Amino acid sequence: MRLPAGACYNARVRPESVYLDFAATTPVDRRVLDRMAPYFEDTFGNPSSIHGWGQQAEAALEEARATVASVLGCAPEEVLFTSGGSESDNLALRGTAFAERERRGAAHILTSPVEHDAVLRTAEQLERVHGFVLELLPVDGHGRVSAEDLAQRIRPDTAVVSVIYANNEIGTINPIAELAAVCRARGVPFHTDAVQAGSQLPLHVDKLGVDLMSLGAHKFYGPKGVGALYVRRGTRLLPAQTGGSHERGLRAGTPNVPLIMGLAAALEIVDEEREAHNGRFARHRDQILTEVVRTVPLARTTGHPTERLPNHASFVLHQVDGNQLLAALDLAGYAVSSGSACKTGDPEPSQVLLALGLSPAWALGSLRVTVGRTTSEAGVDGFLTALPPIVDRLRRAERS
Ligand SMILES: *Cc1c(COP(=O)(O)O)cnc(C)c1O
Repeated sequence: MRLPAGACYNARVRPESVYLDFAATTPVDRRVLDRMAPYFEDTFGNPSSIHGWGQQAEAALEEARATVASVLGCAPEEVLFTSGGSESDNLALRGTAFAERERRGAAHILTSPVEHDAVLRTAEQLERVHGFVLELLPVDGHGRVSAEDLAQRIRPDTAVVSVIYANNEIGTINPIAELAAVCRARGVPFHTDAVQAGSQLPLHVDKLGVDLMSLGAHKFYGPKGVGALYVRRGTRLLPAQTGGSHERGLRAGTPNVPLIMGLAAALEIVDEEREAHNGRFARHRDQILTEVVRTVPLARTTGHPTERLPNHASFVLHQVDGNQLLAALDLAGYAVSSGSACKTGDPEPSQVLLALGLSPAWALGSLRVTVGRTTSEAGVDGFLTALPPIVDRLRRAERS
């Protein structure tokens, strides 16, 4: 099978299809769904209303906030609810950048080239439209930012520093506590995008030392369209969405109570069960990392060898078109991805992979395999058997 670049590929889920793309999204846990259900129909009030329905909804909202706060180790009023990871990232960057410029004229933004687009594109817009100066921190060949590099580049007029906790494309975990300590010493707010980390890594905000942290529920078996932003007390933030005084005036809009209940329930479950799942995830991950490199010629792993998400294996395959590989694997019954959930068929190498120093001939053949709660040994074995002949076929088709 040969797909022209940019072709629309009509994929179908079949009963035997194996999902190995948990970094893109996760199914909603049945227990989470059950916790959400009453808030669509019975406890449907607007938390801002004075009457009983309103107060019921308000009580639910505050219960969810307390649950999230207890997982993060913070006060409930330090938790804001948003429409997802992207909005949390947007609010963290825009909110701090505008507030710090207003307060002390700070107009320098430091972030990394391996951020999710929700951070990077926001920082770019702050530069292009709003006159901030954007500087990207260097990363090493595994996509890690170092505290030394941050200490050298942070300035008195730095408004905010943002570094991703665990990368969605290559799984690399950043030394967040060290980076946060550098910012704390200079009085600069530090944000981390923990959306990908949420399902597997510790989220205690005081141990991490962060001032702002983004989460998105659909990456940890909660519903899509809901997220949270942790904002440390004393951190100044201008609202990006203005209107009513919801969320302490920092995020206008009637809160989506059922989805927020789902986020809180999912986070509570993930926090309780994290250790139980991570061991199994890591065994699958290590098998995938080892076997792909062993059985596929000219395949390399990307990301850090040890400081990486337990469920995350990622590769580049030389002279293979990543999108064609994903389509061929999907036809064979395996849903994987190339790193970011982008399916435009646009043959542009990912910025994250280029930042690692990979040439386009390698970076275009990216493959990400992420496991989750429903992954079975048979599914992983099947994938590992299916992959080598598919890569071989695509490479031969490319040459002929
Ligand atoms: C998925 C993801 C986002 C975006 O979150 P949404 O809830 O889908 O908006 C942001 N950052 C990272 C690292 C992600 O993996």
